[in-house]
Amino acid sequence: MRLKIAVLAGDGIGPEVTHQATNILCAVAELGGHEFTFVEGLIGGIAITETGSPLPTATLDAALECDAVLLGAVGDNKFNALPPDKRPEAGLLQIRQALGGFANLRPSIAYTALSESSPLRPEVTKDVDILFVRELLGGLYFGAPRWWDRESNEAINTMRYTRDEVVRVARVAFELASNRRQKVTSVDKANVLEVSQLWRATVTEVAKEYPSVTLEHQLVDSMAMHIMNIPRNFDVVLTENLFGDILSDEAGVITGSLGMLPSATIGGAVNLYEPVHGSAPDIAGTGKANPLGAILTAAMVLRHSANLEQDARAVEAAVNKVLDAGYRTADIARGQQPGQTPVSTQEMGKLVH
Ligand code: ATP
Ligand code: MG
Repeated sequence: MRLKIAVLAGDGIGPEVTHQATNILCAVAELGGHEFTFVEGLIGGIAITETGSPLPTATLDAALECDAVLLGAVGDNKFNALPPDKRPEAGLLQIRQALGGFANLRPSIAYTALSESSPLRPEVTKDVDILFVRELLGGLYFGAPRWWDRESNEAINTMRYTRDEVVRVARVAFELASNRRQKVTSVDKANVLEVSQLWRATVTEVAKEYPSVTLEHQLVDSMAMHIMNIPRNFDVVLTENLFGDILSDEAGVITGSLGMLPSATIGGAVNLYEPVHGSAPDIAGTGKANPLGAILTAAMVLRHSANLEQDARAVEAAVNKVLDAGYRTADIARGQQPGQTPVSTQEMGKLVH
């Protein structure tokens, strides 16, 4: 198996955690006889410092020639005085747009060893393994018209979807559910919104292509409660853009730390993989960053860009094993045995190896 990966480590803790993720990919390549090549590129604050642009053309061109993009984090307060389209974060928005992925995947997994990191009771989170599939290019965040009229003090945003946009993201959800526990929960607000009625009718239609997968519909408000009360009931959760933004963050509470959460955006020219956390400037350079979010993101690269499901599972199992053995970075140290000190970013990466 050959895979060319663009590595855009970015700012803050981005380079530290990304380094641990690429180490894991190298180990997988070596064990399995695969040829993974890494192409490094600048993005974010570091790219502004070195080239003046948050997403240099060279980075974008290199990314478009790769099979996958692995991104660390982007953000640097030093550039706060710049206009929004020149700041580090603009680099992230631009590359997401240029790659064009429409399905954002965010797993929410309860690690038994971390049950004390979550504010939820262990009997609630036990065995939870949810995969959010969030539509990323449509809905309220992109629909027109959109404006704020400062004279009349009126503002508008539009939640808009076409049938085709719903079909393509629904198919992603059903395909993924076929390889998991065969259940899709589609989230909408069909009792109030026409756009949700279109969403529900379309998802119901797509479900007919996947007879082995069970489809259920949930209203977004009750879903917000179910995620906290009965998260074990869900397998793949399919949502439009705004609902998914909110619910996937809520479900992050199940895992317990921002440092543990991976993500992938698929369906575009090249898949984009990034841990959910940001650049965390408060801990950058201290060795405190948890690399597991980035390492689990590398597992998603193996699963969704290399079709190496077994290797992806092996990486995830290795993470579980390290947690079960009691090793913790500072962010997940709650519940650690007395007398144990947290391990560093680098130590945690080595342990997973
Ligand atoms: P950005 O502007 O890039 O989003 P941020 O300041 O919002 O940066 P986040 O990365 O979103 O930072 O993190 C918010 C908090 O969570 C920070 O205080 C950070 O210390 C903590 N945190 C985030 N990621 C990790 C990680 N991988 N390991 C440990 N702590 C983390
Ligand atoms: Mg942030």
